[in-house]
Amino acid sequence: MIIVVKVGGDLLGNGLPDGLIEELETLKREHRLILVHGGGDIVTDISVKLGHEPKFIMSPRGFKSRYTDKETAEIYTMVMAGRINKQIVSALQRRGIAAVGLSGLDGGLIRAKRKRQLVIVDERGRKKLIDGGYTGKVEDVDVRLLHLLIENGYMPILSSIAMGEEAEPLNIDGDRMAASVASAINADRLILLTDVEGVYIDGKPIDMLHVSEAREIVEKVGVGMITKLYAAVEAVEGRVNEVVIASGLGESPVTSALEHNRGTVIR
Ligand code: ADP
Ligand code: MG
Repeated sequence: MIIVVKVGGDLLGNGLPDGLIEELETLKREHRLILVHGGGDIVTDISVKLGHEPKFIMSPRGFKSRYTDKETAEIYTMVMAGRINKQIVSALQRRGIAAVGLSGLDGGLIRAKRKRQLVIVDERGRKKLIDGGYTGKVEDVDVRLLHLLIENGYMPILSSIAMGEEAEPLNIDGDRMAASVASAINADRLILLTDVEGVYIDGKPIDMLHVSEAREIVEKVGVGMITKLYAAVEAVEGRVNEVVIASGLGESPVTSALEHNRGTVIR
């Protein structure tokens, strides 16, 4: 199977969790794997250390995101494609996995259209139109490069950066990017690993959601889970058979998600 695994920032605090690294080593013998990573919190920490206070904005649909001005885009690229990506590659190489770290810029892998303007909701709940900054929406994924790698035993490790129309690096959401990659490459599974057991509704974890249900409950979940549900819907409506949102902690998180022993399945 082709499996796209997205690892959220909360899992990356101290590098990839050991259980996951061990499991990837085993899974790779049987499957072709692509890893997508986030790391927003680490970008925030380093941004603060560099004296550049990050700004966050809220969309009318409840998406919270980083406001990416030029300097933020530079820090974002530096931390995502540098520190975080190379830490993951290094951890995997140490276990003998031929990990190849890439951003969406490399080889023109992920092309996006820059958002010219953004509608935001301010602290008083009023809608405002602001300059789009350096964020984008994925338009095209060059699957040839990914195939070239996975068919030859390499594991692509993708940082959530896309290439804009002027080849500028753009900040894109990791969950949505993972969904785009998974759809483009016709992945059998998309596994969104995070720090909770799955989607909770009224305090209870949900085992299975039909896409239509997933679309309906978006309004009932909080920040963080909203983007994952949108990503899951996009992927299933695209070409992915099944998406699982699950915890990346503990032993064999991906296998547990594949076997429906853990997490929320969306299909
Ligand atoms: P990641 O770095 O993995 O993308 P996020 O913090 O963006 O992690 O998203 C996961 C978070 O979403 C969880 O830690 C949890 O606090 C939050 N969350 C909000 N609503 C829900 C919900 N209904 N079910 C599960 N998690 C939720
Ligand atoms: Mg997130």
